[in-house]
Amino acid sequence: MYKLIDGKVISAAVKERVKAEVATLKEQGITTGLAVIIVGEDPASKVYVNNKKKACEALGIISEEYALLETTTQEELLSLIDTLNKKESINGILCQLPLPKHLDETAVINAILPEKDVDAFHPINVGKIMQGDFDFVPCTPAGVMEMLAFEGIEIAGKTCVVIGRSNIVGKPMAMLLLHKNGTVTICHSRTKNLKEVCQNADILVAAVGRPNFVTADMVKEGAVVIDVGINRVDGKLIGDVNFGEVCEKASYITPVPGGVGPMTIAMLMQNTLTAAKKQNKVN
Ligand code: NDP
Repeated sequence: MYKLIDGKVISAAVKERVKAEVATLKEQGITTGLAVIIVGEDPASKVYVNNKKKACEALGIISEEYALLETTTQEELLSLIDTLNKKESINGILCQLPLPKHLDETAVINAILPEKDVDAFHPINVGKIMQGDFDFVPCTPAGVMEMLAFEGIEIAGKTCVVIGRSNIVGKPMAMLLLHKNGTVTICHSRTKNLKEVCQNADILVAAVGRPNFVTADMVKEGAVVIDVGINRVDGKLIGDVNFGEVCEKASYITPVPGGVGPMTIAMLMQNTLTAAKKQNKVN
């Protein structure tokens, strides 16, 4: 019998913790502020930005939204980031990706001050994650680690398989599992014998972006299965894991929706709080 890892419950616990700390900072005269930049009209991005704004408001974090036109130039965007880098009331800066094609994403990521980079995409923060000495972790892998910790799932010595090697999910996910002493394999589209590799996993994380990609025959009896995937199929949200059949073999499993998704915003709030504390030299 599997146990469902409930992202709604765990993200609520994280948010309560953040809310309490934000209030304590406020009593000391310290505000916590997040600036979110969105360029263009991508509907999914608009939903994400709106959710981030609502989460900030609920936790007492000041949120500033900068909705820029699709035609915004690189210079205009970099100039806004420069202003926000210097703005004391803003502790965290997030630029919603993807950006319109004419803008250089790498240059934009690199322009955000590392200490305000609450997405943890800046090369300095990426390097720190690699070294295992970091303040910010990309929100989605951070959310997965929070879920494992909440459920008391041991990582040390476990065989961990991450399917996906993107900079925002797969790679940092693998690093975090490694830092907790998991024995980690990263799989991707060129991996041979993917099924056999996955069958060895005590902890299997799917971040592929393909609906129902992980099937029961790929999963070891008693494995912990984490589904990062969010795929829209006929208006429905479907994970990367075929939940209906994989749950029969898993010891723990995350649902989609209501699994890793809600954790991502909660960890963004956590990173914004961390930024405010660091910038104000509060432990
Ligand atoms: P990317 O498309 O950047 O990466 C997908 C990875 O999956 C790549 O490394 C790719 O390999 C690998 N892959 C693709 N096909 C196969 C295959 N047939 N066999 C093995 N590996 C394969 O996606 P992201 O990492 O950005 O996102 C992954 C999923 O997570 C998506 O569904 C996304 O929507 C979701 N997501 C969810 C979030 C949340 O909050 N829950 C946040 C961010 C993402 P290769 O490198 O060789 O191409």
